[in-house]
Amino acid sequence: MSADCIFCKIIDRELDAEIVYEDDHAVAFKDINPAAPVHILIVPRKHIPTLLDLEKEDESLIGHLHTVANKVAGNLNLEKKGFRVVINCGADAGQIVFHLHLHLLGGRPLLQTMAKGRGV
Ligand code: 5GP
Ligand code: ZN
Repeated sequence: MSADCIFCKIIDRELDAEIVYEDDHAVAFKDINPAAPVHILIVPRKHIPTLLDLEKEDESLIGHLHTVANKVAGNLNLEKKGFRVVINCGADAGQIVFHLHLHLLGGRPLLQTMAKGRGV
């Protein structure tokens, strides 16, 4: 837990969010400013600021987050039409919340380029 981190506060229920899935290692909730009809954030309970801060011991955790993304995508019926999973890392990628998270995006055809807008 990092004192000033909004995602740690959501995990600890100090801040409201629409949680769609949780387990011992991960929590998934709706993005407050969705960029697509489905926009879910999947976060580890462990506070890791960015992808660059991953340690060797976190390798199974980052894999688990992707399994959770699959599960949530299935629950939201995205399996047939597909979806996108994105991790922003640092300033050039536009990361604004420094608690590692996967964006799960879907529910409409997504842009085929990563160069425009928010890459979605
Ligand atoms: P980033 O740009 O860091 O990869 O994405 C952070 C995401 O967190 C953004 O899509 C933003 O809309 C979302 N976000 C920021 N603050 C909150 C919040 O308090 N609650 C929720 N549910 N999402 C948030
Ligand atoms: Zn945090």
